[in-house]
Amino acid sequence: MALTSRPRGTNDIIPGEIELWHELEGKIRQVCHAYGYHELRTPIFEHTELFQRGIGDTTDIVEKEMYTFVDRGERSITLRPEGTAPLVRAYIENNLGSGALPVKLYYYGPMFRYERPQAGRYRQFTQFGFEALGSSDPLLDVEAIALPIDLYKSCGLSGFQVELNSIGCAECRSVYRKELTAHFEPHADNLCRSCQGRLHRNPLRLLDCKVESCQVIAKDAPKITEYLCPDCADHFSQVQKYLDTLGISYVLNPRLVRGLDYYTRTVFEVTSSELGSQNAIGAGGRYDGLVQELGGKETPAVGFAVGVDRLLLALKNQGKLQLSPSGPALYLVHFGGETKHKAAELAQGLRGRGLWIELDYADRSIKAQMKAANRLNSQYVLIIGEDELAKNQAVLRNMGDGQEESVALDELEQLITIVGACGK
Ligand code: ATP
Ligand code: MG
Repeated sequence: MALTSRPRGTNDIIPGEIELWHELEGKIRQVCHAYGYHELRTPIFEHTELFQRGIGDTTDIVEKEMYTFVDRGERSITLRPEGTAPLVRAYIENNLGSGALPVKLYYYGPMFRYERPQAGRYRQFTQFGFEALGSSDPLLDVEAIALPIDLYKSCGLSGFQVELNSIGCAECRSVYRKELTAHFEPHADNLCRSCQGRLHRNPLRLLDCKVESCQVIAKDAPKITEYLCPDCADHFSQVQKYLDTLGISYVLNPRLVRGLDYYTRTVFEVTSSELGSQNAIGAGGRYDGLVQELGGKETPAVGFAVGVDRLLLALKNQGKLQLSPSGPALYLVHFGGETKHKAAELAQGLRGRGLWIELDYADRSIKAQMKAANRLNSQYVLIIGEDELAKNQAVLRNMGDGQEESVALDELEQLITIVGACGK
């Protein structure tokens, strides 16, 4: 059993599905290019401390979701549960902030969280995220919303909603935290265990709790936006003005705080109406304190992470993911012996030019080979017969319209011109 079943919460991406991932990955690279973001690849695992410091001890991720182990050198190692802390670590370690600012970076790859697996929630999942470091310009906050929207739109996704809030800076939050604690304290007995534990350590997180009894109490909680200091209030109003300028619609949600501790000021989340309860397809915000927290210079920053698995799920549910079936450019039908050697030689030459070429490996009948070519959806078939081979000729059949023509086997370029026009 263990040998033939993958660990809970993981997925295999098999041929037929992987093409959709490739297509989406292409769109991700395209949209990052348009906004000037460059890819940064970090290790899959990091020192555990990076996430404890970078994400925060009171977060769900650090409290209960990390895959942590001690390696053979007695170091505590964690499979990355998110991409921002590693990216910031790499930004500091490689001194990437020494030139012009802001520095715009993106990452793409697997993340690991020990969660209860369900549709759209896995233990290994893929995130695409991007971060702009070195500027507090509210226009960058807005571009961090505009970029994923461009991506969603380029995939054909509709029915998504942007929720927006500002959670201020340390200064405005210290006043707000007191008010919030005072609001929740009389109800402490009715809060879930996690929230009881967080009430004094990190009361903002209580607004984010998914437990219904906690949500009821959170409903009348004071709103952070009423406690913003003048600078944060101004920043938030500029964010909204730019959003209006760019024609991006959004909904203000004063209870949106985001799960990670490092956020400051703007936070946002995008949800899809195509998904059930796991409906967040991306989230992000500003984190002006993180770079310093991890040992770098004071550096304001803003970013966003897209759940790629969930985005694909939303697209599938919307019926937006139909790829035109692809197939080989050419299937070489041979009669064994010399003709098979000629087929092998031709295949090598054409593959060297990047064309997808298939041939029979089982010396099957011509009928069976034609059937195989059909099943593979091959654009052309080249029939290399013994008599034709003696004359250096073969019959090329267009599988689309059934037209046949004789081609010279020593003129590879002619074949490439015809077959290559169908794509690779
Ligand atoms: P959620 O509220 O759904 O747990 P989150 O706040 O933990 O999400 P983030 O850490 O902000 O999520 O990650 C950004 C995006 O990554 C999410 O919006 C979601 O699309 C995706 N994501 C997060 N956790 C998972 C998971 N376990 N499986 C699949 N996708 C996930
Ligand atoms: Mg989560």
